[in-house]
Amino acid sequence: MVEHKYSKWTVEGDKKTEWICGCFQTADNFFKFCEMHEDTLKKAIQAQVDELDMTQVVEEKA
Ligand SMILES: [Zn+2]
Repeated sequence: MVEHKYSKWTVEGDKKTEWICGCFQTADNFFKFCEMHEDTLKKAIQAQVDELDMTQVVEEKA
């Protein structure tokens, strides 16, 4: 029997894809990462956000 308590804590919607490590994507396209991948993937996303922010600053000054 599988409990879905984790999705109720942090993520809305049903799981659409779940990987063997524990990461999953919901039907609403939210991602929840397992402990093993959380740090790495959060840093990757943060790096992309930082790049976008820098681009926006340049555009505002131009
Ligand atoms: Zn994972």
